[in-house]
Formats: sequence, structure tokens, C-alpha cells
Amino acid sequence: MIHALVSSPANHARLDEIRGEQVLLSDSPSSVSDDAIQEMPVVLMQSYSVHGNEASGTEAAILYLYYLAAGEGPAIDEALYNAVIIVEPMQNPDGRDRFADWVNRNRGGVATMDSQDREHSEPWPGGRTNHYWFDLNRDWMVTQHPESKGRIELFQTWRPQVLTDHHEMGSGSSFFFQPGIPSRKNPNTPELNVRLTEEIATYHAAGFDAIGSTYYSEEGYDDFFYGKGSAYPDINGSIGILFEQASSRALRATVSDGELHYAFTVRNQFVASLTTLKAGIAMRADLLTYQRDFYATSLEMAQKNRSGGWILDLDDGRTRAQLFAQLLKRHRVEFYELTQDVQVNGKTIRAGNGLVIPDEQPQYRLIDSFTERTLEYQDSLFYDVSTWTLPLAFDVNLHSYSGNLSSVSGEEVISVALDGGSLVGGEAQHAYLMRWNRFYAPRALNRFMEAGIPVNVAHKPFSILVDGEKVWFDRGTVVIPLKGRDTPGKTWDANTVHTIAKMAVKMDHVEITAAHTGLTPDGPDLGGGSMADLTKPRIAMTAGSGASSGQTGEAWHAISERFRMEVSLIEPSRFGGADLSRYNTIILTASGLSDAASNNILSWTRKGGNLIVLSGATSWALRNNLVDIESMSIDMDSLTENLDYHQMDEARGAQAIGGSIFQVDLDTSHPIAYGLKDQMALFHQGSTLYSFTGSPGQLIGSYSMNPLMSGYISEEKLAQLPGLASVIATGEGRGNVIAFMERLNFRAYWYGSQRLFFNSIFFGRSF
Ligand SMILES: [Zn+2]
Repeated sequence: MIHALVSSPANHARLDEIRGEQVLLSDSPSSVSDDAIQEMPVVLMQSYSVHGNEASGTEAAILYLYYLAAGEGPAIDEALYNAVIIVEPMQNPDGRDRFADWVNRNRGGVATMDSQDREHSEPWPGGRTNHYWFDLNRDWMVTQHPESKGRIELFQTWRPQVLTDHHEMGSGSSFFFQPGIPSRKNPNTPELNVRLTEEIATYHAAGFDAIGSTYYSEEGYDDFFYGKGSAYPDINGSIGILFEQASSRALRATVSDGELHYAFTVRNQFVASLTTLKAGIAMRADLLTYQRDFYATSLEMAQKNRSGGWILDLDDGRTRAQLFAQLLKRHRVEFYELTQDVQVNGKTIRAGNGLVIPDEQPQYRLIDSFTERTLEYQDSLFYDVSTWTLPLAFDVNLHSYSGNLSSVSGEEVISVALDGGSLVGGEAQHAYLMRWNRFYAPRALNRFMEAGIPVNVAHKPFSILVDGEKVWFDRGTVVIPLKGRDTPGKTWDANTVHTIAKMAVKMDHVEITAAHTGLTPDGPDLGGGSMADLTKPRIAMTAGSGASSGQTGEAWHAISERFRMEVSLIEPSRFGGADLSRYNTIILTASGLSDAASNNILSWTRKGGNLIVLSGATSWALRNNLVDIESMSIDMDSLTENLDYHQMDEARGAQAIGGSIFQVDLDTSHPIAYGLKDQMALFHQGSTLYSFTGSPGQLIGSYSMNPLMSGYISEEKLAQLPGLASVIATGEGRGNVIAFMERLNFRAYWYGSQRLFFNSIFFGRSF
């Protein structure tokens, strides 16, 4: 990401040296004395407009850079001598591009104040999000997008003592700076962090008092979720500060007490930039000391709280485990090769197939908070999700290990490359068999389909002989024949099949076995009726006004960016007249479809289409009687009958599910759950829960008897949850409908449940 490093000429001449001293605060806190701290500059990272349509931040950043570069006099000289300032003026270039394009082409010679004017109302999906419509201010922890990967690398290279994140909020407000709501601080953030934030706030207050701008703190926003820019620093020994300026949206807007001008909002952001610098200089030694002590106490906590660390199993879900390890590495987590077989939780992890993550390392607190399961909360209201437990999202086995770590650890692993693909048995004479166990297996399957090679899926387990030994294959194994079944004597270009098989092993890390005959010792033969034809998906998806841009963007990113497949994005309003016969798969993310659109989709489904209903479209499917479910209700009247007026908001809010992780029982004999385990963690966001009222065999996933794995849910809703509907697959005419109640692709880091999504795309027509 584009950024500027600003400091005095003398500091610039020895930047590497300064950085070397800075990182000792976290890498080796005991080696940094109080005297040494007195001589060190403070590092400030000031970041702007991660939401692209909150534009005033970026304008202020340019002014601020000008001030830093051109300012003269003792005050600026002292500041530049005592600080290294990292300015990231634009955290979300694609979002800002959409916003700026819209407002600039809708303004005339005189700026209009009318909120109904085009300049004031951006079209779907707006400029808040990045290219794939992801909120980058939820990506700091999971770092799935290039903007965040670059930003975290910059952050971890310099490890600033203060990071500020400049936003905009509703026009009717004033200016917010942290601290946020006290009861919604993450318990893993030290109390001293809040005290320092309060002290920094006095500088902002003084700056705003001086120009006569109004402001507030503590009455809104929280520091709970470490995936946000203002909270991520808090688990890295730094102080994260959120700024929110009332937005003018356009050049000027009408507000309750008159007019709000864009220039005014830029000025406030500029002043907050200056007061941050002022606070950073004045509190320099305290901030540096806080960071050093944060890391010193992290090591003490690691020694006191636990003995040992974690072992990540690379054998089970190897690709996902390696992707998880890459994520940890981006946050400076240290881990080592496993050099001995170890027993954990009744399972043997073999040498070379695990990573050893010791507790005793600087990022102990970060590892703990990224991987923990949370069931108790101080507050029942959340600005965002209540949990993120990364091992559940990646569906990997991260075992706590209390044995002697040093005796099983080898070399430190500096970087992790995806690997583990295998081709057993050489060049096949009859067919290749690809197990449906690896994350990128759908991408490999698509390679064969793109080349026009017919492929089948096994609906029953079977075995083949490999070097005289019987080897079993599960349901969901993809059979890629070298000989035609329906056209006698027809063979494909065998060399093409061999080449793609090798490429899939290398690029998609899949496990492929060569079969030299179609006869199998157990289960169906390779040319039998249990090996069903698969057709290449031709996919359309609702994208546009009425659809959830978040869910649509997640699915788009998964299909097009991650799995390299074509998908047509169609405006919901055009579904009524669209020629749907071009597609065999439609993904719905919108509930508000017109009658014409609904009828077109229904008739297409009945003619044999594969309709995938994501959670944003559940109520549409319910209205059109495609799924047999009923929404559950809570008797709010009886829950609130003894409450006073001021308690009502909280009582209602406590019934919301902002984002929690539930365990779901899956019927893995159904194609939609092929290759998965019988129980799986899924992410639920949205307060409506559904009971299933249909026929046996259609409920593929339901909440387990003890479903809450991590996160907040009210007691009343938790009591209802066991057995309720999560995944439904049903026939409709000659077609199929598959409905998911969960956010399978949530924020691109739910690698575990994303496999259900791709099963529905590839196997949705084979039941
Ligand atoms: Zn924002």
C-alpha cells in the first residue's frame, strides 16, 4: 500500500537503526532500559479512509503530509526529531475510486444540499468496500485481501506505538474519538491501554475546543473485535484509536442545525491528525514503555498460565492447515517443524506432519486471542461479531500440548508454501481417482471440466488395488476416465488428461490415484451406475440492488478469484427478463425479487436448474414454498414485561446474533456434504432461526444437541437451537434447491464451510 515515512533528515539517515531498536521492545523487552527509551523516537501510524466513501480522511492526510513536509519552526522540528510518522493516506483505493467517480460525475456548478440528489446517494454496492465488496476494516486479523496483507506487513515491520484509523459516520453526529464503550473492551486488552487512550483523548478535546468543533467519546463503538483497525493494535502492544467524523456524503449537506460542508469535515480530520502527533510526542516515553511492558508481561503470562504450547496437525486438511499457518506468520507468530511423533487427544501426529507453536514467544497473547473460544461476555450487545475462533473457521486441528516441546521441535519455519499434492500409481491406463478431501479439489475438478473431459462422482465407497494392496475411496471421489462409457471405443486425448492430473497435483495440492482397470474389489466398478456424470457449472448470481453486497461479494470472490471459475453477476431487477437457459446453476443472495424475476427463477428450477439459496435469500425461498421451514420466534412481551423504557433497547439487542459459531450435524452420505466430517463448525449471522418441517432426507445439516461452540447467543435462543435447520437440499420439479442458513463464505476466512458451498455448485445436480 502507498504510504509515507516522515521524520527528521537525521532520523531518515538512520532509519534501519531506529527500526532495529524499535523491534527490541517486542522481541526482547528485557534488553531495553528506561534510559534507552528516553532516547527513542515514537512510531505513529496514521491511516485514512479504509471505507472508500468516507472520503474526508484521505483529503486530510494530504494536507497533513504537506504540513509535515513544509512546516517550519521549533514545534515541527521537535516533532520530526521525536517521531517516525507512517501515513497511509488511502487504505481502500478501489472503494474510493467508485465513490469519487460517482460524486464527481453527479455534481454541477453549484453543490446541492438535497439528500435526495444523486450525488448524495451512491448506487449499489457503494464505495465502502474493496473490489470484491469486502469490508477491509474487518480484515486486519484474517488478512485475506491484498490491501490488508500489505498493511499488516507494514505494521509488523514498524510496530507503531499508536495507530489511528480515520472514518466517517452518520451526518447527524459530530466527531467521535476513543475510548469507546467501556464494557465492550476486549478482556485481553490491558486496562492501561484504556488509560493511555483517555490521556490521548485530552489532546483531541483540546484541539477541537480550540477550533470550536463538537465531539464525544465512550458513548458508542467498541474495541472488542481484533479484526478492526482500531482494535488490532491493542493485541500488539500498541494503542489503536478510532476517529469518526459526521459525513457530508457530498460537498455539502443539510443537517439538523444547518449545513455540513465537506471542507469542515476535512478540517476536523486534519486537526485530529495534529492532536495525535502532539499526544504522541508528549507521551512518547509512556507509550514506548507501555509497549515494552506489554511484551514483557506476555512472556510472563505464557510462563505462568500454561506449560507448553500448540501443535498444528498438517495431516488433516493439509491445505487449510497451511493457509492457517500462513495467516499466523503474517502476525509474526513463531513456529517450528515437528521432528518426533506425538500423541495428542488420542491421535498420533507424525514427525514432519505438524507445526510446533510454543507459548513462550512475544505473540503469545495474540495467538491466544485469535484461537480462543468464548462463551461468557460482560455485555450482550456487539458492534460486530462476538467471536472469530480461527481454528474453527479453518476447520483445522490445533492441539494444546503440554509435553516437552523442545524435544519434538526442529528448525524454525520461516515461511509456509502450500504443498502435499500426490499422484499415486503413475500414468493411469483406465481412470484417475481424485479424493474429495483437499480444499482446492473443486478447482482441480474444474480444470478437467474446462478441458471438456467427462468426469463422474462416486455415490458409493469402493476400493481398488494399488500395488496389490486394497485402497478405499469415499463417496465424493471424482473419477476421471480415460475411456468413454457411453460411446464404445471412444477415448479422450489421454495426454491431456495426464497433463491436467499432474497440474492439479502441483497447483491444487490434491491426492490423485491411478486406476489401471475399471474392475474394483469392493463397491461399484468404475463404469457403473453409482459413478454419476457431473456437468460443468454455468453459474449466474444475483448482484445488485436488493442483494446483500457482503454475501454476494464473498461468493464472487470465492468462485472467481479463489477457484478461478466464471460467474455471471446479474442485477436482481433483470432476472425477470434474463435468458436463464444459459445457466445450470443460480446463486441467490437477494430476498426482494420482483414477481417476474421470481417466476423466471422458479420455472428455470423446475426445468432442471440447480438453485443455491444463500442465507440472504432464505426468506425469498420460504415465501415461494421452496423449502419447508418455519421461522422461530421469541416472546419478547413476556421477556420485557417488567422492564423500564431505558432497558428496552438492550433487552431487544440481546436477542440478536451478531455472529456466533455453532456446531452442525451433517449427513455426509448426501452429495452436499461429501468429503466433510459428520460435525462441523459453521458461522451464523442473523437473528432468525428456522425449524425444519419437510420430509426425511432433505435436512442435510441441523444444529447439534450442544451447538454453541463460541460466541454470544441469548439463553432463550440457545434453548431453541438443537435440531433446527442449517442445510436443506430438496427437489423442485426436475431441478434442485439447496438452502444454507449460515454464512459459508464469511469474510473469506471460513475455509471449512466454504467446501459446502462448492459441493453445492459441483454436486447440486447429482441427487
Ligand atoms: Zn468507516
